[in-house]
Order: sequence, then C-alpha cells, then structure tokens
Amino acid sequence: MKKKKTKNKFDDINVINTTSSIKLKTFLVIIILFFIALIIRLIFLQFVNGSELQSAARARQTLTETISAKRGTIYDVNGQTLAISYETDKIYIDPTNIKDENKETIAQKLSEILEIDYQELLEKINNNTKRFSVASNVEQNKVEQIKEWKNKLDFSTGIIFEETTSRTYPYNTLASTILGFTNSDNSGAYGIEYSWNSFLSGTAGKSVSLKDASQSEIANSEKSYIAAENGYDLNLTIDVNIQGIIERELATAVDEYECDSGITIAMDPSNGKILAMADYPNFDPNNRNTPNSKLAENWDTLSSEEKSNALLRMWTPKAVTDTYAPGSVFKLITSSIGLEENLVKTDTAGEFNCTGYYYINGEEKPIRCWNWKKPHGKQSLREALEHSCNPAFIELGLRIGAQLSYKYYQAFGLFEKTGISLPGEAIGKFYDLNKINQHELATMSFGEKFTITPIQMISAVSTIANDGVLVQPQLVDKITNTDTGEVTEFKTKEIRQVISKSTTDKVKSMMESVVSEGSGYRVAEQAKGFSIGAKTGTSEPTSSTSKDGYTASFVAISPVENTKIVLLVILKNPKGSLHNGGQIAAPTAGKMFAEILPYMGIESGNKVNETNNNLSESDLY
Ligand SMILES: [Zn+2]
Repeated sequence: MKKKKTKNKFDDINVINTTSSIKLKTFLVIIILFFIALIIRLIFLQFVNGSELQSAARARQTLTETISAKRGTIYDVNGQTLAISYETDKIYIDPTNIKDENKETIAQKLSEILEIDYQELLEKINNNTKRFSVASNVEQNKVEQIKEWKNKLDFSTGIIFEETTSRTYPYNTLASTILGFTNSDNSGAYGIEYSWNSFLSGTAGKSVSLKDASQSEIANSEKSYIAAENGYDLNLTIDVNIQGIIERELATAVDEYECDSGITIAMDPSNGKILAMADYPNFDPNNRNTPNSKLAENWDTLSSEEKSNALLRMWTPKAVTDTYAPGSVFKLITSSIGLEENLVKTDTAGEFNCTGYYYINGEEKPIRCWNWKKPHGKQSLREALEHSCNPAFIELGLRIGAQLSYKYYQAFGLFEKTGISLPGEAIGKFYDLNKINQHELATMSFGEKFTITPIQMISAVSTIANDGVLVQPQLVDKITNTDTGEVTEFKTKEIRQVISKSTTDKVKSMMESVVSEGSGYRVAEQAKGFSIGAKTGTSEPTSSTSKDGYTASFVAISPVENTKIVLLVILKNPKGSLHNGGQIAAPTAGKMFAEILPYMGIESGNKVNETNNNLSESDLY
C-alpha cells in the first residue's frame, strides 16, 4: 500500500515532470515569439513611424492658439481713412450652464448693459437648449462691464465672449465701387479689398503651449510663439475732396437729366494716378446688401435671382467693368492719327466739305451728319472738331484706312486691359481687321461700331494730355508694412510713346477751340476763366442696344498746357428733353471743375473765355 503509494507518488512526479517540461517549453517559445514581435514592433515604431507618433503625442499635450493678423487700413492720398478694422466681441449665452434661479439675474444685467429687451432675452434663456447669440459688435467698455460683473459671482452665467474683427467704411457710400468690401471671414470680396487682399490681410501667427489633462494651459510652461504679420496699410491715389465733389455733381446730373446711371473718372495724365472714380448710383459697403435708391424702386418685384444679380451689378466699378461706344469723344483719337501721319493739317481752310450726308462707295444709303438739316459746309479739321462733324471725320477715317487705324488703336491701349488694380476689368469689342469694310471704317472714325471701357477712353485722352506717352492708370499710391514701418511707393508705369508731342500740342489746341468756339462751351460757363480743352460725345442707340438709349459724354483737360487733370463724364440713357454730351455732360463737368480746379491750385487767370454763345441746343453734339 505504502509502496504503491510511493510508486504512485513517483509516477505522479514523473508525470508531473514530463507535463511541466512540455508546458515550460511552450511557454518559452511563446515568450520568445512575444519578444521577437515586440522587438519588430519597436523597430517599426522607432524607425518607420517615429516622427508621426511623436507629433501625435505632442498634439495631445499642447494647446495651439491662432493669433489673428490685423487687416490693413485703406487711406486716401491725404491719409483720410476709407476702410478700417477694429476688434469687437460677439456675446453668446449657453442656457445649459445656468441654474434656473440665476436666469432672471443674468437676463436683467445683460439687457441693462447691452440695451436689449429684458423679457425677450429671458424667454430665450428659458426656451433655448443650445447656445445662442445675444449681441454682435459689442463695444469694449460694455464687454469689460460684463466681465467685471461676471467675475464677482459665485455661479455660472453661461456667458461666452468671442473676439471678432469688424470692417467699417467711415465715408459710407464714398468711392464704394472702388473700395469694395470684405466677407464675414474678413477676406476681401470686391474692389480694392479683393484685388489687394494678399497685402491687406496679413498672415495669422500662432502660440503653442503645454496643457494638462483637463486641456487647460499649464502656467509658466514653455511656449513657442509665431507672431502674426499684420496686413499692409494702403494709400490710394484717390482724393476724398475731389471724389466728394464728383460724386455730388454726378448724382445731381443723373437725377436732373433722368439718366439710368453715370460714371466719372478724374486722372492725373502725367502719372496715371486716379484722383477720383465714381459710379452713381452706388452703395454703402457698411450695408452692402441694402439696395440703393434706384434699385429700391422696384426691389420687391424682383425674383431672388434678379435681386442677387442686381446687387452684384451695384457693387462693380463700371468705369472698369463696363464697355460702351465712346461716340464723338473718339474724334480726338482719329484727329491724332491723321495729324501724326501727316494726312491732315489743323487749319487748312475748307479741307472738308459737309453736305449733311456722306455716301460710301457702292452704298445707296448715306451716313448722315448729326446736323444734316443744317450742313456744316467747308471746314478745316479744327472747325470739324468744334462742330463734331461726322462727314469730315468719315473722310479722315477713310484716308487713314483700317490698317493704320488699328496700329494706333493698339498703341493707345484699346486692344488690351489697362491693368488697373481692380477686379473684373472688361475688354471692348472691335471688328477683325481683315473684315472691316468702308462703312465700318467710316463709323469707327466717330466712335461707333466698337466698344471700349471708360478707363481705356480716359487713358487714351490722357496720352494726348501727356505729350503722347501712354501710362498705366494707378489706384494705389503706396503701401506701408505696419510691422516695420517700411513704405513702398509705386512708380508711374509708362507703357509707350504713342504719338509725338508736336501732334498732341495740335490736338490740345483744337480741344481748346472746342470749348471757346464749339460744342463744349458749356463747361466754361460753369468753370469761368480756366484753361480748358474738351470734346463732347453722344453715342446713339443702335438697333441691338436700343433699350440702352443715348450715352452722353464729355472729356475735358485742364490746364491745356501742362495738364494736371483729365475728366471724363458719362451719363447713360438720359430720358429728359436733353440728351447730347454738350447739353448735359459738359455743364456737369464744368460744375465739377469749378470746385476741383481751385482746390488743386489751378488758377483761373481771371480771363472770361470768349465762347460762341450763338450755338443752339442742338449744336451741342
Ligand atoms: Zn457736318
């Protein structure tokens, strides 16, 4: 029994020993496999995936805050503020964080400081289950008052502050189509705000600090800090005083002559700097979605698509985005080409003969002079320009020919965008050179059958005023790095010499005659005694654009020698009894000059211009 027991015991031990040995070996193999796997994993983690995991670990332990850049300010040429950003707070309430017994106290205090309705706010706190906005653009002193009150309390108010930036336009509607505006995310949406956004916006910085398990910043922990680069300040070439005069007189003319709209540009021809550029009607960038008075007339009848299209249209600078047939103002370009190419002289008596009609070879129907009932008869080029006689310019245009005309149109910059720094610059339409027939050539000589932008037209006339040199129109005078104070001034960009100074002297002298003897005299009635040269223009409605009606325009330079300002006034679709450029655009330009020229220090010379006041209203084409 004992033996058996012992044997059994040994047997058991043997059995146990044998079993243990197998288990141990299996265990060891597993351990070894586990370690091999671990080593492989470590090698993988260390060499293959190390950097990614490191940054993931760091992200779990750090707090990154964006430091927003301040958007640059836009000034006029004299430093008047046209667009500026300021910090404001937006205030929210999270009702889930407020105990019932505190709701009335919070509604009471907020309504008192923010000057909002107590009952309305209390109802919102009682009824909302999510956070809601209480007030935007809250001034800093009010924010401080609320924060001070909040800090003294021993209960949760659920009041949340969010810092935001607001953009404001202190002059409201002034120069609105040039300035444009910013989106709610503070990026430029239209105008200069859009085209200069990369300079104005700056670059956001960031601050990275360590945080604890509760996700809050650990005090005195090491921080890495990348400062925000604030946006550049811009100084435009626009002068608010000139802009103000132009906008007021343009609005008066559009209303008085019952026009759809009007455009005016004033440019310094020596450097292309835009002194003013105006649209009427315009808009207030502080309330950009509010229709202007013209749009408001039938706003409620528009579909939502029509409304958004109308707003888009309201925001654009039409001097740059719209094209038009320049009409008789373009006779200045035809004159310049003819004189430069020695195809005509300014004062050869009887060089042209107006019978009231011009018959193109092979065509039965003649092109009429606007004054066909009282033909102009024999005229020199100067007289033809004074009278704005179409047959004389048809003859000159045919002498020049299509090839040469296009060579100069190209040189005057009419086939390409001016490159002015505004978004949406349009380009006009011309016939293909090889498809131009005599009829088209004839009408182009007096500014019909093709389109250009107003900014191209004034640039071409500025070329005449600037001794024949075309310069690029310029809207931004200088930019300032607000972090370093470094100022970058933009130089005049000369494009090319288009015509000679001797030619431009002749054209300017004829422009002076247009004011003293011809259809432009009404500018001098308003701006008495100043040295002014000009040309009138009236584009007729064509069958395809008849709904657009007439376009009355007027271009003027002052002084004639050493010209300091070129002014282009365009009035669209006048529906009153007067519709010619000389009748309505010339006196408008005169009223503008009467204030702008003295402001610019241009002296009147105290001579009253001898003007030919025997002209009738219908002579002012
Ligand atoms: Zn004529």
